[in-house]
Amino acid sequence: MARYHIETYGCTSNRGESREIERRLRDAGHYRVDGPEAADVAILNTCTVVEKTERNMLERAAELGDETADLLVTGCMALAQGDAFTDTDAQVLHWDEVPAAVTNGECPTTTPDASPVLDGVVGILPIARGCMSDCSYCITKHATGKIESPPVEENVEKARALVHAGAKEIRITGQDTGVYGWDTGERKLHTLLERICAIDGEFRVRVGMANPKGVHGIREELAAVFAANDKLYNFLHAPVQSGSNDVLGDMRRQHQVGEYLEIVDTFDSALEKWTLSTDFIVGFPTETDEDHEQSMDLIRQTRPEKLNVTRFSKRPGTDAADMKGLGGTIKKERSKAMSALKMEVVGDAYESMVGAIREDALVVEEGTGDSVKCRDGAYRQLIVRNASEYGLEPGEFVDLEVTSANTVYAFAEPR
Ligand code: SF4
Repeated sequence: MARYHIETYGCTSNRGESREIERRLRDAGHYRVDGPEAADVAILNTCTVVEKTERNMLERAAELGDETADLLVTGCMALAQGDAFTDTDAQVLHWDEVPAAVTNGECPTTTPDASPVLDGVVGILPIARGCMSDCSYCITKHATGKIESPPVEENVEKARALVHAGAKEIRITGQDTGVYGWDTGERKLHTLLERICAIDGEFRVRVGMANPKGVHGIREELAAVFAANDKLYNFLHAPVQSGSNDVLGDMRRQHQVGEYLEIVDTFDSALEKWTLSTDFIVGFPTETDEDHEQSMDLIRQTRPEKLNVTRFSKRPGTDAADMKGLGGTIKKERSKAMSALKMEVVGDAYESMVGAIREDALVVEEGTGDSVKCRDGAYRQLIVRNASEYGLEPGEFVDLEVTSANTVYAFAEPR
């Protein structure tokens, strides 16, 4: 869990995005502190209206970079003139990527009472809390402990209640959904998903983060359930964190690169269209240049359509915090190289969708201005502008044609 400081400049749209960043950070167990000196991470949401504002933004980025361990820059200036921040220590990100970058590779925490929540058309269903790992960089584990899995029937009833209350997208969450049921001696994420999909109603299900070790043992069953159920988004978030088995060992991750590759192969064989989402930590204390290259090669090989890149930073009380760290320059260079590769790989994935038809995309929420955010069957983000003209409201299903692409989303129009 990280302590963050956030500063927002400019229009109401920036303020709305900062509110959403904060909401996601709070949900993931991170907390805001007053002032950058007390923070692990500072977030600067920038504006770029006039030249003077730009100078102010750069000066503020330099100050924040001096005052905190990590600086994330987002907002209009970051996206339009990201290169301007080259001389600072900042990571430049789309606002949507900021929450994942704050986590330092740790899993999200679930709410302590593990109650489902309906937030608009999205129902959040924590299926368990805790994990089966002991990652050397993780502080979340101290708060959450070993996995505790309620019975399948209990989670199915919670999902049914969400559907009856109007949920159109059920998000299955947990520190590590892939190990659901391990404490009771049964690996049963696939069983739970099958049962939830059998609930009457028109809705979609998104499976939250599942570490590769847990997924590997049930990869065939899981891929088969995904293939058989249109209600499940074909989306798997399996954070690999490194392409080097040596670094994975030092991180005390429980998987090896080969297991991750076997998961990707299994899903590739079972599903025509699916989204691989994964995370990498760059600059772990024992990461060599060669290890870093192995991570870059793994990205080139598997081409994840969603990729979170986190620059390693120490969390007090963890074993990794006692390791001799890499210099800031090395971490910065590696993170820049990986972020550039990410832009290319993820950008290509969205670019290749232009002209495609996506049937039954779900309108998930309102976007900025007169737009709505939709998700297709593989959980790709599609933005429809002038939504009121088409009469589109959150909770509806719509056939879309993809008209153009951005790096982390595409634009689409109803057919
Ligand atoms: S799987 Fe690792 S990173 Fe995630 S909560 Fe457990 S110990 Fe932390």
